[in-house]
Amino acid sequence: PLPVLAVVGRPNVGKSTLVNRILGRREAVVEDRPGVTRDRVTYEAEWAGRRFKVVDTGGWEQDVLGIQASVAAQAEFAIETADAVILVVDATVGATDDDEAVVKLLRRAGKPVVLCANKVDGFSMEAEATYLWSLGLGEPHPVSALHGRGTGDMLDAVLAVM
Ligand code: GDP
Ligand code: MG
Repeated sequence: PLPVLAVVGRPNVGKSTLVNRILGRREAVVEDRPGVTRDRVTYEAEWAGRRFKVVDTGGWEQDVLGIQASVAAQAEFAIETADAVILVVDATVGATDDDEAVVKLLRRAGKPVVLCANKVDGFSMEAEATYLWSLGLGEPHPVSALHGRGTGDMLDAVLAVM
């Protein structure tokens, strides 16, 4: 079976945009509509000659359960099912309590986690990403999922631990 990469994080940080970028085509639903089928969506992806599954988490749960419970459910899923996890954080906002809550859960998982500092659309934004060292997950990878900036380097880091 292919290794499974879960993309987790609080709503609106750019998880689906990142998954689209990883897939190289527009397929993940960027504006999640409520509905069970939007809960988790699994796609097959390939990077540097390696195939894997990528799971876009989040969706209806945030409406039904609230953000905290939603990210907890995502993290739980990642803990149980994934071989590696990308935690997406919005670098323009910085680390929030909700981000910290996911980190706590992920720590317990013992699965490899790569930290994606998303929405770093240009070089001048890279300093913002360095604040995310505070999450204790190691190097924050500055990425613009929207423009594709930094995603290749981040995926290299993911494959190195998956
Ligand atoms: P999700 O809820 O975590 O899946 O987030 P989405 O992928 O749906 O994105 C939420 C919003 O953030 C959308 O308006 C995206 O266009 C925007 N977004 C995602 N990635 C980036 C990025 O790298 N830079 C900027 N400026 N906006 C982004
Ligand atoms: Mg989404």
